[in-house]
Amino acid sequence: MGSCLLTGGAGFIGSHLCERLLAEGKRVICLDNLSTGNLKNIEPFLKNPRFCFIQHDVTKPIEINEDIEYVLHFASPASPIDYIKLPIQTLKVGSLGTHNALGLAKAKKAKFLLASTSEVYGDPLVHPQPETYWGNVNAIGPRGVYDESKRFAEAITMAYHRVHKIDTRIVRIFNTYGERMRREDGRVIPNFITQALTNQPLTVYGAGNQTRSFCYISDLIEGIIRLMDEDYHLPVNLGNPTEISVIELAKLIIQITESKSKIEFKPLPQDDPKKRMPDISLAKKILNWEPKVKFEEGLKRTISWFRQIL
Ligand code: UDP
Repeated sequence: MGSCLLTGGAGFIGSHLCERLLAEGKRVICLDNLSTGNLKNIEPFLKNPRFCFIQHDVTKPIEINEDIEYVLHFASPASPIDYIKLPIQTLKVGSLGTHNALGLAKAKKAKFLLASTSEVYGDPLVHPQPETYWGNVNAIGPRGVYDESKRFAEAITMAYHRVHKIDTRIVRIFNTYGERMRREDGRVIPNFITQALTNQPLTVYGAGNQTRSFCYISDLIEGIIRLMDEDYHLPVNLGNPTEISVIELAKLIIQITESKSKIEFKPLPQDDPKKRMPDISLAKKILNWEPKVKFEEGLKRTISWFRQIL
């Protein structure tokens, strides 16, 4: 049975992917420097003999003395407040980190999957966003550190595929939510749920008419698992194409949690994308995949998680 090496395996998405790969019978080597990941996320897997955790910063060379079948590169700060706080680390993990992860895949003759992002589309001028759209990114703005590091990561992944014939995949992940997001994550769903459950005002940035489309974690993981085995090397969008405005989201979370919280308007961060929604026709066609979990259902599960950790 081949081993999977997952960078960023102690993070939100990474830990769910570790769990699923273990359930599929794989051996999983999880690398994480715990800068935004958390040991708690992987604690239940530590007693599994097929699981191994190595605390390592993947911007430094990765040495592993065993066969590896698959390298999955998920390490990176991913919440705007994190990558704005850690701009250089974000640029390094997308560039040096991706180079090291690809180098490992090359040395081990392993397959490779890159976690990319809808941020490669920047503040999109095409809606919804298909993979063929090249994006509208401000390279030197506060979000540029994440957007450009992921764009570089995609470029070097395709170069390793073309030059070294590495068997690569690229997934462009749109907004995802669910259990194991951090209380202090800073992204909109953890913020609103935490605020609603503690009767604090929900902080809506701008007028709240910007939109996002949220995918529940189990749907995303299913898409990634399907892509891992597909012979397709160009980027594939994974996300839920149900669009909602931030203000509607705030009202929905207040309603589901039966909270007494009010809404408070705060300044809109620079370069905040006005609209975002994935075009998932490609994933439907090649992976026979589409999200199954309804938004209210996913929110309820996420709210119960936050009730436990608050
Ligand atoms: N947002 C908000 N209040 C918050 C956090 C975020 O209104 O407390 C908005 C943010 O401005 C953006 C959207 O919610 O328009 C989604 O932000 P998030 O940080 O979740 O991720 P993004 O999709 O921008 O990467």
